[in-house]
Amino acid sequence: MNDEFDPDTLAVRAGTVRSQFHEHSEAMFLTSSFVFGSAAEAAARFSGAEPGNIYARFTNPSVSMFEDRLAALEGAERCVAFASGMAAILATVMGLMKAGEHVVASRSIFGSTVQLFNNIMGRFGVETTFVSPTDPEAWRQAVRPNTKLFFLESPSNPLTEVSDIRAIAAIAHEVGAWLAVDNCFCSPILQRPLELGADIVIHSATKYLDGQGRVLGGAVLGSKALMEGVYTFLRTAGPTLSAFNAWVLLKGLETLPIRMEAHSRNALELAKWLETQPKVARVLYPGLPSHPQYALAMAQQKTGGGIVAFETVGGKDAAWTVIDQTRLMSITANLGDTRTTITHPASTTHSRMTPEQRADAGIGDGLIRIAVGLESVEDIKRDLERGFSLL
Ligand SMILES: *Cc1c(COP(=O)(O)O)cnc(C)c1O
Repeated sequence: MNDEFDPDTLAVRAGTVRSQFHEHSEAMFLTSSFVFGSAAEAAARFSGAEPGNIYARFTNPSVSMFEDRLAALEGAERCVAFASGMAAILATVMGLMKAGEHVVASRSIFGSTVQLFNNIMGRFGVETTFVSPTDPEAWRQAVRPNTKLFFLESPSNPLTEVSDIRAIAAIAHEVGAWLAVDNCFCSPILQRPLELGADIVIHSATKYLDGQGRVLGGAVLGSKALMEGVYTFLRTAGPTLSAFNAWVLLKGLETLPIRMEAHSRNALELAKWLETQPKVARVLYPGLPSHPQYALAMAQQKTGGGIVAFETVGGKDAAWTVIDQTRLMSITANLGDTRTTITHPASTTHSRMTPEQRADAGIGDGLIRIAVGLESVEDIKRDLERGFSLL
């Protein structure tokens, strides 16, 4: 079905398998194990001679439907679902790498991902070098003979820096490494990294794929050959997505195309308006012609996405005033929700970095990140105006 239909259709229907009861909405299989018709069938399932479910740590029909739908949307041969986005990233490293190998990663990636590479994988002999997301040559220079994996997020959080996925994938392949892209901010509706040359796509399904702030989930996608190692780690170590969460995520995917379009429309309108505000020093949004990588963003993404960052004049006090004057937006670090969220990266998501590291990364004390939701954009503007008027 995947070549035959557009993404709007795949989001609603791909992966659906009905049971003997012919249910219309996908069934939720709340079962930890599966029953065999005979000893011979059990043996055949365990040996792999016969396909089918054995135990829900390995596979579950609700989870498989979610995996197949997301694989169709990303144009991937196979998807392996996880309990969270972080579990998906852990499984990528544990499933595909070994001690003594090396990662080159963008320095503008999710905070827990930095901790995972530095503090956890480092203890197991996998070293990581962090480089600029916007300078492909820096990636080439960071390569060592044992480099196995390149890892990036584009656009990045919170500065919306855009990485040239095609160029960085080409360098990875020249040196015999794989490129993994955390596609959380765009979702497959706005960006398909595998088509741009990436080998692996990673999702925190917790964000736009659910889209309504309900459940945690994650996924790794790529070729059947690469996903075999990732799946073996899942099956053995057990960071499995629950059937309930998979079912919620299946429902989330059905509205993903229309939500991404609406998030993008609101975000562009808000970003343009923020550029006209005297209390705003700069606006970072890949869909604005003023963005340093506007041309690249528009070449590899369908829209600028739903995340807007801006710097208030007046540093931390000003940023906190704007945040504290909101009545509509949720003050939370989560993103990708129908509800607009607002956060101060320097004192929350990026507070574990030293002030020097933050300054180096360009995360100023006046920076605010908004994950634009589906409310009226006029109401969102009014929610910010109250704070701006006090600065
Ligand atoms: C939230 C997030 C993650 C981690 O996902 P969880 O589902 O919270 O484990 C990874 N990468 C990005 C870009 C994120 O925003």
